[in-house]
Amino acid sequence: MNYQEVLEEIKEEIKPHLKKGEVANYIPALQKVKKNDFAMSIIDVDLNEYHIGSHKKPFSIQSISKVFTFALALQNYSKELYKRVGHEPSGDPFNSLVQLEYENGVPRNPFINAGAIVTTDSLISLYKENTFDYILHFIQDATNDHSITYNKEVFKSELKHGHRNLALINMMKSFKNIKNFTDSVMQTYFKQCSIDMSTTQLAKSMLFLANHGVNPITNEQLINESKAKRINSLMLTCGHYDASGDFAYRVGLPGKSGVGGGIVAIVPKKMAICVYSPRLNKFGNSYAGTKALELFTDKTGLSIF
Ligand code: GLN
Repeated sequence: MNYQEVLEEIKEEIKPHLKKGEVANYIPALQKVKKNDFAMSIIDVDLNEYHIGSHKKPFSIQSISKVFTFALALQNYSKELYKRVGHEPSGDPFNSLVQLEYENGVPRNPFINAGAIVTTDSLISLYKENTFDYILHFIQDATNDHSITYNKEVFKSELKHGHRNLALINMMKSFKNIKNFTDSVMQTYFKQCSIDMSTTQLAKSMLFLANHGVNPITNEQLINESKAKRINSLMLTCGHYDASGDFAYRVGLPGKSGVGGGIVAIVPKKMAICVYSPRLNKFGNSYAGTKALELFTDKTGLSIF
């Protein structure tokens, strides 16, 4: 199949959708983007690459970082972590507090904010003040690109406006499911969200999930096959918050979105895809990005179903 041609077709067909939705406004620094921007990258496990749009331009990865921190936590833990964060879809928005109250401070899954914050807390217990460096190195190694870094302006903007995440941390702390200092958890979580990457870098960084946990760029086993399976399953069922069912229904691939406008999707054993378009639907997922991935699986038949 000629994937470059497929991307060119998507680029045409996506045009009417690029003005739908709104850029995230609760983190003011995220508004400074070209609102109708679009990029899409496909990289297969043999490292062939196909791109359209602004695919080298870094953007804020936001909640896509939750995949990396969960993978890094699973390198170190399994059973202990599964006790602190579940693996069921939440059916609630990404920043919701409600379930924590009656589920003893145990978040439903690692891809909502509460679950990602617990995951980061588990990393701080291991790596102490070096935690963010370990997270960044994990991402740099997965991508084989050591230029990746975080955006200080976005980080500061998140800190200033992060009331809800602070509430999540405090709520979970009251149930003893956050073990480290609030400040250190906040800072590390916001730094990981503020990392900037392009669609090319993100597609590369996720190849290990399409390849049984082995990074095909370096041949390094980042996580074992069974854990790679679990991450893919969670991406399918929980990667788009309360729109995870809709994403599975329309796209049919494991995927993870971020409010920066990025979405990564995995075609198991074949490729990783990343799409970027910063206008979001009401669930906080890229509007045109979801549509582009739907077009991709419709055209190629490459959904997992
Ligand atoms: N940094 C954002 C937050 O915590 C991440 C949310 C997202 O991308 N869905 O609110």
